[in-house]
Amino acid sequence: MSKPIIALVGRPNVGKSTLFNRLTRSRDAIVADYPGLTRDRQYGTGRLGSQPYIVVDTGGLSGETEGVDPLMAGQVRAALDEADAVLFLVDGRQGILPADEQIANYVRLFDKPVLVLVNKAEGFDHEIAKAEFFKLGMGDPMAISSAHGDNVEQAINSILPKIPPKEQIDDFDLDEQPGVRVAVIGRPNVGKSTLINRMIGEERVVAFDMPGTTRDSIFVPFERDGESYTLIDTAGVRRRKNIKEKIEKFSIVKAIEAMEQSHVVVLVIDGSEGLTDQDLTLIGLAIESGRGLVLAVNKWDNLTAYQREKVKAELVRRLQFVEYAKQHLISALHGSGVGDLFKTIQQVHTAAFKRISTSDLNRVLEQAVLEHQPPLIAGRRVKLRYAHLGGLNPPRVIVHGNQVDKLSEGYTRYLTNVFRKAFKWTGTPVMIEYKTTE
Ligand code: GDP
Ligand code: GDP
Repeated sequence: MSKPIIALVGRPNVGKSTLFNRLTRSRDAIVADYPGLTRDRQYGTGRLGSQPYIVVDTGGLSGETEGVDPLMAGQVRAALDEADAVLFLVDGRQGILPADEQIANYVRLFDKPVLVLVNKAEGFDHEIAKAEFFKLGMGDPMAISSAHGDNVEQAINSILPKIPPKEQIDDFDLDEQPGVRVAVIGRPNVGKSTLINRMIGEERVVAFDMPGTTRDSIFVPFERDGESYTLIDTAGVRRRKNIKEKIEKFSIVKAIEAMEQSHVVVLVIDGSEGLTDQDLTLIGLAIESGRGLVLAVNKWDNLTAYQREKVKAELVRRLQFVEYAKQHLISALHGSGVGDLFKTIQQVHTAAFKRISTSDLNRVLEQAVLEHQPPLIAGRRVKLRYAHLGGLNPPRVIVHGNQVDKLSEGYTRYLTNVFRKAFKWTGTPVMIEYKTTE
């Protein structure tokens, strides 16, 4: 069920981030750009290749002895620990450097499937480019060009089958659960566990633990006010009760997977600390996941009136890019605000799955165009002819017209807002995709 994780490693400048961008770029969906959004450049969903996966760019691994940058080394180590396979990039134009050998030795310790990619191989004889790197002793390398795309899809398709299949749990099928799937995510200590316990209440619930790794979330089906839910618990509340596992290991990969498995994401922020960079990264990933989003600003009980005003102002100012997500000021500890949180979860779920008829869509599109004409491009007006709904959760509107590839992000944002208002698409991202028809 969970996607395999592929880590990119290699010296600085070998082309990891170029490869990362190529693997994670979405092909045709145009999401309105969100000014102020911090995009996570380290984690992404792989879209190129025969099946979905998660890509992690480990950043710079200088290959120098440990201790140079302990923090970085720790991150690389954590990423390799979590990975199911490794793409090891080297620079075909530079040949093997001592740092490559050191990285090879390091990567070997993790005992994961590895594929050496000889990058920047465009215009080179691939056999010659590969021959030298065979000496790394990590199997048959593959020559690629991240910048031009040569062999990139082949590289992914050749590493994917080397990943051993995961054990599947057979008595729990997420897709068969009724109701709303809610992922509760957030940094450690923001109050996820406290909130989860509040949400599921005193009911006796059965938790379904995925076998094996601590990476997987726990699923908790429960009912509240006659509605069914499945909670996707990244904090491991139930697990921690059973085993003496006190400290949660924060994993962005786990958060990404939980979001993808969910319908609605509840992102918990510690109001008494204000917004942190990690909160913003998680919000960015939630937007990219396309799921409905609710922000739960927790520990509100812990703030003085003055602090509350300050935090509120900060939230308004810094979260303009995710205006569509409702903010709930709650106290998981005392339970205040949790009832309203459920109301919003229901609203967002309804909005994200609402089927809008083609005629309604076109009526709104026509009106939008009347009120605010698309621009002239080289003397010709961009014409938006018709629209249809291309998908739900998130709603995707496919707009057909001429020269639509030339439309500005500003116009896309305008259309998004018009549709959002007309169809009460609250709490969910709205995607607009253009198709050219002359
Ligand atoms: P990173 O530090 O490993 O993430 O490397 P980058 O992706 O930032 O790339 C470093 C440099 O190599 C940049 O100037 C890229 O444009 C360049 N580069 C990356 N991939 C290729 C490639 O396939 N061919 C060529 N010629 N240059 C590349
Ligand atoms: P998690 O790591 O995100 O699962 O966070 P926990 O639920 O374990 O909470 C971390 C700490 O914050 C614990 O000491 C909780 O008692 C405390 N906490 C959680 N929610 C609240 C709240 O609403 N108000 C206050 N004052 N403390 C809270």
